[in-house]
Amino acid sequence: YDEFIAKTTLIRQKAYIGGKWTASVNGRTFDVVNPATQEKIVAVADCGVEDTERAIKSAHMALGSWRDTTAKERSGVLRRWFDLITKNSKELAMILTAENGKPLAEAEAEVLSGASFFEWYSEMARHVRGDVIEAPAKGRQIFTIREPVGVAAMITPWNFPSSMLARKVSAAIAAGCTVVMKPAHETPLSALALVQLGEEAGVPPGVVNIVTGTKASDIGKVLSQSPLVAKISFTGSTNVGKILIQQSASTVKRVSMELGGNAPFIVFDTADVKAAVEAAVFCKFRGNGQTCICANRILVQEKIYDEFVEKMAEEVEKKLKVGHGFHSDSTQGPLINQKALDKVKLHVEDALATGGKIVRGGSGHPAGKQFFEPTLIRDVSTDALICREETFGPVAPLIKFKTEEEAVMIANSTSVGLAGYFFSQNIAQIWRVARKLEVGMVGANTAMISTVEAPFGGVKESGLGREGSQYGIEEYQNIKYICLGGL
Ligand code: ADP
Repeated sequence: YDEFIAKTTLIRQKAYIGGKWTASVNGRTFDVVNPATQEKIVAVADCGVEDTERAIKSAHMALGSWRDTTAKERSGVLRRWFDLITKNSKELAMILTAENGKPLAEAEAEVLSGASFFEWYSEMARHVRGDVIEAPAKGRQIFTIREPVGVAAMITPWNFPSSMLARKVSAAIAAGCTVVMKPAHETPLSALALVQLGEEAGVPPGVVNIVTGTKASDIGKVLSQSPLVAKISFTGSTNVGKILIQQSASTVKRVSMELGGNAPFIVFDTADVKAAVEAAVFCKFRGNGQTCICANRILVQEKIYDEFVEKMAEEVEKKLKVGHGFHSDSTQGPLINQKALDKVKLHVEDALATGGKIVRGGSGHPAGKQFFEPTLIRDVSTDALICREETFGPVAPLIKFKTEEEAVMIANSTSVGLAGYFFSQNIAQIWRVARKLEVGMVGANTAMISTVEAPFGGVKESGLGREGSQYGIEEYQNIKYICLGGL
């Protein structure tokens, strides 16, 4: 691993502004740390307000010529970018594992899923259309065209350092926008590597800019208040999302927000229990529980409750292995930082204090300071903190319910609504529950919902807008209506 870090040409330590790799104005750097060992990987530019303003200016200067490129040209750039990511997927996965901790296989899967957005939007770029609409009066014709919104700012989290950025930047570039991005300071290396490959793919100077830094609120303020930025796309916590929406109000920016979830995972007694157990383990423990669509509350109907708990514990025992991401048999890496670990511990303590009982796990793991045992807690009360907040860790609370109405009521009793899952073999129940869940995405008899073809996004306080799919590009477009008269 040390050898790899020393040798790879994909680790960048500077910001990329106007087509140049540049140190921060004040010359400061910050350390990027491996969460499995707490060791420093490298130091990266610690940008602030001035650097961000420069990045915005360069994106703004590049906008005129980029929006005038043909869709075919933009498609070509995205396609080459896709090819380069795919070709370098193993190295990119190593970088991702080093900074995020997730096992190598999962890191490579993320890199490839990120790549799929470049492929998708390279295709989508050439299929943008307007309308020709009949006018109410003679001698007139109505047209619509789709135009890029302008400079798009993007702020992304550490849990998917590669694919969250890929999903945003590919759609924006396809639409003809230019971009300023700020990755999470925990995981800037995957983002910088993507930008380097973009440079190699022929992205012109100024079209894609990246600032890295620890002063997220300073950078975020400039991005969300600058009159030169037309759009802000954010993935992260609901609290920060609210701040960005508020700040964006001053210049009436377009906003896309992918915020927190609190996904219910309901298992009805009509379910194929074996399939539900496998999906629950995948859905809860993927990314060590640190994804916004991870099952956060597992609701199981009375009649099959004991059987489900027992089988889920067996499945966890059989499938999950805690360890460093670079070990080939690890499935569960570390938590991202001490704060994340503290939250997990607090949720476990609170769940036990409110009546829950440990089925397995419940404590740290000898692999290292930030590792935690995959944990199952049964008889959890719906009042427990773990049901009210997103845990973002490897803890599965199992809640018992009696009726379908009760399960749906519990599932919807939260201010957020991103993903929701349920298992049932009753077709009428499947349709009823899918309609009733207050979420943006439903997995019925599956937990594998994330894919480039489908619109990703939430309702309620989980966010605004959709990413991926045919809809994702619209987030970066304005509709212009042209009325042609005198015909
Ligand atoms: P998490 O709890 O997952 O770290 P955050 O919402 O804090 O979620 O972080 C997501 C992204 O938002 C990161 O890039 C982080 O640096 C950035 N961020 C955090 N606080 C702010 C802020 N006040 N303004 C703008 N960006 C912020």
